[in-house]
Amino acid sequence: MNAAFPPEQLSPENAPAKPGARPGLTILIAAPRGFCAGVDRAIEIVERALEKYGAPVYVRHEIVHNRYVVDGLREKGAIFVEELDEVPNDAPVVFSAHGVPKSVPAEADRRKLLYVDATCPLVSKVHRQAERQLEKDRHIIFIGHEGHPEVIGTMGQVPEGKITLVETVDDVAKLPFTRDDKLSFLTQTTLSVDDTRDVIAALQARYPDIAGPKAEDICYATSNRQAAVKELAPGSDLVLVIGAPNSSNSLRLVEVAERCGTTAKLIQRASEIDPAWLDGVGTVGLTAGASAPETLVREVVDKLAEWREIDERPILVTEEKMTFKLPRQLVD
Ligand code: SF4
Repeated sequence: MNAAFPPEQLSPENAPAKPGARPGLTILIAAPRGFCAGVDRAIEIVERALEKYGAPVYVRHEIVHNRYVVDGLREKGAIFVEELDEVPNDAPVVFSAHGVPKSVPAEADRRKLLYVDATCPLVSKVHRQAERQLEKDRHIIFIGHEGHPEVIGTMGQVPEGKITLVETVDDVAKLPFTRDDKLSFLTQTTLSVDDTRDVIAALQARYPDIAGPKAEDICYATSNRQAAVKELAPGSDLVLVIGAPNSSNSLRLVEVAERCGTTAKLIQRASEIDPAWLDGVGTVGLTAGASAPETLVREVVDKLAEWREIDERPILVTEEKMTFKLPRQLVD
């Protein structure tokens, strides 16, 4: 419990309860949380493609990392595949919000596939920065998590050997480059704001002339969701993060809460909550990663309300008004 939420504002489980009343539970609910503009756009792209071209529409990789969303689109006629060779020549295909290596649209062009690119515009911006650094003959140090589709997509914007992945400050110490090498750095959009700051500082200390973006490429949605968790976690006994285990920004929200000293659990659905987690808990912080819909947040609140008398309190750090345009081929 912390000073931000004095005990008298909270409803601890062991607070004096009226005879027969259920114990209270305060839910500090993060705002912003859940869907970002890039996820909204990607889902709408698949829905509009289904309307325009009819089912089935193929989608390369999970359009966003959320099983509920993917299952919903599958029911409407989307078929999810991992590679283009699983897409028939006469079917439309959508590329996921995480972005794809250049080789993917090149292959789609070669096969004359009808494709729609749902890459988030903020990821595309990083792709263009990578191209610009290549034109300037700078080797790119890319800060990101190995194996994540966004990382594969961004690293695939430049030829092999022109980009090196680092994840940690330790990785920076092992880089083979000298101070005189022409270097630049870029970042994945869904990283931990704090960790990335440390990695960038290590790069700049080792390579004072390294070029980089004015601000790191972590997107507004990732930063805002982490800021909201920093605000609510210190006053919570437990933080629940709704998101998928392969969702980078959701995993970062769990880390942020844990670094505030609060136990945090990643859940995909309300059914995964173990009632024992609530033993001795008077305040729960609740948030959702950028690919988790609000329906799942309400599902969790309703589940908690089955067990406790809940008092829901929004913790607002900022309002988001970002929207992105749809690809022209779907609005004509
Ligand atoms: Fe785009 Fe950020 Fe959302 Fe990823 S988390 S889709 S980069 S807005």
